[in-house]
Parts: sequence; C-alpha cells; structure tokens
Amino acid sequence: MIIVMSPNASDADLNAVIARIRDAGLAEHVSRGTERTLVGAIGDERKLSESVFEQMAGVERAIHIVKPYKIVARENHPDGTVVDIRGIKLGGKQIQVIAGPCSVETQAQMHLAAAGVHAAGCKLMRGGAFKPRTSPYAFQGLGVQGLEFFREAAREYDMPIVTELMDVRMLDTFLEHDVDVIQIGARNMQNFDLLKEVGKVNKPVILKRGLSATISELLMAAEYIAAGGNHNIILCERGIRTFETAYRNVLDITAIPVLKKETHLPVVIDPSHAGGKAWMVPALARAAVAAGADGLLVEMHPNPCEAWCDADQALTPEQLSELMVSLRLIAQAVGREL
Ligand code: PEP
Ligand code: MN
Repeated sequence: MIIVMSPNASDADLNAVIARIRDAGLAEHVSRGTERTLVGAIGDERKLSESVFEQMAGVERAIHIVKPYKIVARENHPDGTVVDIRGIKLGGKQIQVIAGPCSVETQAQMHLAAAGVHAAGCKLMRGGAFKPRTSPYAFQGLGVQGLEFFREAAREYDMPIVTELMDVRMLDTFLEHDVDVIQIGARNMQNFDLLKEVGKVNKPVILKRGLSATISELLMAAEYIAAGGNHNIILCERGIRTFETAYRNVLDITAIPVLKKETHLPVVIDPSHAGGKAWMVPALARAAVAAGADGLLVEMHPNPCEAWCDADQALTPEQLSELMVSLRLIAQAVGREL
C-alpha cells in the first residue's frame, strides 16, 4: 500500500502512520518528495485498510497496489486450474457442457432428462432440488427427495451431478447424497458463511456471479472458498442486471477474457439464465465458446412446456443435441475440444 501524505502533514502525522504500519506487522519505506511525502507499506498489505489510513491526520490518500485476492489470482498461479469431477476434467482443452432441467420434478422427468443429456454427448448433469425463487409461493424444489431422484437418474449414465446448495444446514445432506458439484447460486454469491463452509469441503464448487456483482466481488467471493482450503472452484457468468429489459439478463461475454486474465479458475457460462428464452440460448452458448469459456451450464427439459420452473428458457433434448453439433465446430475453431 502507498500512503500519500498531505502537503501540510506534520512529522507527528507521519510518525503516526509509520506506527500503524508497524503495528500491523509491516515495514515502512518513506520517500520525501519536494511537495509530498509517500509512505510505502512493505509486507502483506491485504491486512491494511485504505479507510483506516485515510481518516488519519495528514493523510491525503491510501492506495492498495496488490490485488485483494491472492489464491485465485492468475499472477500467483500462471497455469489454468483443471477441476477434476470424478475423472471428468473441467478447464484445459476440453469444454464441458453441463445440462439438465432447472428443477428436479419427478423421477420420470429426471430419467428422461438424463437420457437427453447423455444422448446429446454431455458428461455432466444439472438440476435444482432447492430452488431460490423470487416468490415464496412458487415451487421451491423437492428438497432431499429431489436429490434422491437426481442421483438415481444420473446413476444410469454414471454422470456427475451439479445442484444448488442454498442453506449451510443442508451441506451434510449434500455430502451424504454424494453431490458431485455444489452450485452456489447468484443470489448467494456473497453469502459469506455459506462460502466459508463450502471452502472446508473437498467437493468442486460452481460459484455463480451475483446479479449485480462486479468481477472483483466475484473473485473475492471465490477467494472466501479458496481461503478455507477448497481450490476446486469453477466460476459461472449467468447474466447481469442492467437497464435493458428486452431479455432476462445481459450475458457479460466480456467477463470471459477478463476472468481468464485475472484468475486461473475455469469459467463457465450459463446462457439460459442470461437470455431467459430458449431461442436465445444457442447464440449465447456459441458466443461463449468462441470467447474462451471452459464450459456451459444449460437448461434442458424433456418437455419444456410442462416445466415447473423456467419453462421459457429450457431447450428440448433435440435442441440440446443440435446445439452440441455447432458448439463442436466452434470449439475446434478456437483450438478446444468438445
Ligand atoms: C439455476 O442455475 O438454477 C439458478 C437458479 O441460477 P442463478 O443462481 O444464476 O439464478
Ligand atoms: Mn433456472
């Protein structure tokens, strides 16, 4: 951190700043210019808060010079992370498409969905048993029974399952049901207690970007998980809130190259919750693969018109299979495999 002293700062002000730096276990480097004195704090400056210095007498500004995130930063880990999900690699050359219904409804629906996901050539399946719904009167998910239906359906094709954890009290149940990938939904991106708990387990986590979260906030949320010891984190951009109302959310394609530069963690795109309409999903999915995404999280329902949740945005099994064909060509064009 660099602390810029005001032109009229006294020696006592400067000494107080130095004392505070030393109290935090860092060392100082004072640079006296003709107009201003700068104090560099040497050591792990993440322990220091800009606002603590900025309210001290004689201080004009305090500026962090390193990134606030450490474990997830690309600068500390130049190679991209490949997350191993029961032998299926997410990150690296291979692009993974995780497909399935918004929510688990019935055992029969999950069997049909699993067959569709497998037939399309996808290796991982999604489905929500605990649903974060805007209305408390809307279908909230089947809960534990949903996990059972999901596990049973995916077993037939030996597909790892991805499902959302909303409540930290359900974490043990998720582990007992051998959930392969824990999804943290957009609305919980900054539920720090939940992030800390999934940071302690040895299961891959898909962390979805909050509706209005900045890239830096997303990376700090990932850092919470990583700080607990769990480095198997996959980031997911799922569309952000803007002034636009013509579609559900704006898919922030720009986030892909920016995240790839800032972090070594794999990045997947959810074109379904971004567009909010099934007809938009193929275009957004193709754009994501072209822009360097490591995977996609796509909603598919055996019979979208009958879906209990997000019916408008679900692809049919046939549409998913068609999409996979065009995605393979794009993946090839950008030096990836699918
Ligand atoms: C979901 O993937 O089912 C979901 C609820 O997504 P999000 O958290 O991005 O809204
Ligand atoms: Mn959904």
